[in-house]
Amino acid sequence: MQVWRLIGFYTCDVLVVGAGPAGSIAASIVAKKGFKTILCEEHKMVGRPCHCTGKLSVHAFREFNLPKDSILNSVKAAKLYSPGGFKLDIRKDSVDSYIIDRELFDSRLSDLACSRGADLLLRTRVYDVEREFETHVILKARKDGSPVRLRSRLIIDAEGATPILPGKFGLRPVSDLLLGVQYEISGIQFESPDSVELYFNRIFAPGFFAWIVPLSECMARVGLCVRRSMATSPINQYIDRFIRMLIDRGRLRDFKVEKVLAGVEPAGPYISPSYSDNIMVVGDSAGHVKPTSGGGIYFGLKAAKLAGETAVKCLDKMNVSKWQLRVYEDEWVRAFGRELNVTFLLRRILNSLTDDEVDRLIRKMSEWDIKSVVERYGDTAYQSKVIFPLIPRFLKRSLEKLDDISLLARIAAEGFLALIT
Ligand SMILES: Cc1cc2nc3c(=O)[nH]c(=O)nc-3n(C[C@H](O)[C@H](O)[C@H](O)COP(=O)(O)OP(=O)(O)OC[C@H]3O[C@@H](n4cnc5c(N)ncnc54)[C@H](O)[C@@H]3O)c2cc1C
Repeated sequence: MQVWRLIGFYTCDVLVVGAGPAGSIAASIVAKKGFKTILCEEHKMVGRPCHCTGKLSVHAFREFNLPKDSILNSVKAAKLYSPGGFKLDIRKDSVDSYIIDRELFDSRLSDLACSRGADLLLRTRVYDVEREFETHVILKARKDGSPVRLRSRLIIDAEGATPILPGKFGLRPVSDLLLGVQYEISGIQFESPDSVELYFNRIFAPGFFAWIVPLSECMARVGLCVRRSMATSPINQYIDRFIRMLIDRGRLRDFKVEKVLAGVEPAGPYISPSYSDNIMVVGDSAGHVKPTSGGGIYFGLKAAKLAGETAVKCLDKMNVSKWQLRVYEDEWVRAFGRELNVTFLLRRILNSLTDDEVDRLIRKMSEWDIKSVVERYGDTAYQSKVIFPLIPRFLKRSLEKLDDISLLARIAAEGFLALIT
């Protein structure tokens, strides 16, 4: 085997492309079952550069054996700021999410994959594929700048938001992206650092929102995403506007920017099919991200687990055709497909509203005591859970005033349009 490697030729049963959380979890499941697994990552270190705020639902820690030493803070509340500056406080009784150190989190997960037998190839960027009969594929990559070839029976593609491989297998890519930028700031003050702050305003976050996520009493991640198709300025101008607004409102005074990061993530909708002969696509690469909040780690982990388990079954049967691999998509759709569909619909409605309408909506949520429903049923990971209990209250209260009926009608019309187009 070493001789082949010396001439740049690698063979395996499963090649996982991308050592983010999704790739590492998929690799660890397949490797644990004794299949020869290679996990390749283009960067020289797993987890770097980081491109994430690291807010992860408690469900993820309950469901997966995740590294607890990566937890920096826990949050149970959110403050929603309307475009006009109105604040809606939502607080749950128990912890809803953890804020994690993504670099440590990713590197611990790849360590787990390696400890189970996966072979991690760093500085290895896959760029092309060719088929070898029906049973194998050969991926072309550059490792440390030199060309290498990787022969595998099956590929699990976990390349993140801008993948190369799905298109090469004839799979449709995710059509729109969120562009994100974030500062890690010291010197910011929190009364209690268990509440995230979300700011809605097209001036600094068209198609999404800006955030302050506390790490401690005096440290925070301050950032935003904009939807690429709605952005009209470079991303640095949006974060400048947001920071200026926070300074003007007295939210930021003596602060220091400790770290800057930028990244992209899929804005949905997810890809379907997410598999073809010899390949399954997981995580951001498949659009497994909630379009409302941009959270992609948890569903990426779930998809990766299902892909890993499907891989094991199909390799046992010596059949990795698309007819066998389609089980993977059936299962992830059952697990969180509804959630992605509902949040995509909500995001389309929100993006169609003007800042004035979003302002009214957030004020009404407070006036109608909708926040108590959100506090009771709200769940970062499964946001659709709150929709059905909200509908009757929303209908009842908005029908009481003519002015409010118009807002309801706008939302209903946009929802209907989103459903039929
Ligand atoms: C600004 C910002 C903030 C975010 N905040 C949150 C948050 O708070 N909570 C949350 O849940 N999600 C958040 N997300 C989304 C989250 O980062 C992603 O959903 C998550 O990282 C997806 O994991 P993944 O394993 O699918 O892909 P990634 O984590 O992107 O990993 C893909 C890996 O593949 C490697 N790679 C790519 N192409 C190749 C190739 N051709 N060959 C070899 N290697 C390759 C990359 O280097 C990378 O390491 C945020 C995203 C952004 C941009």
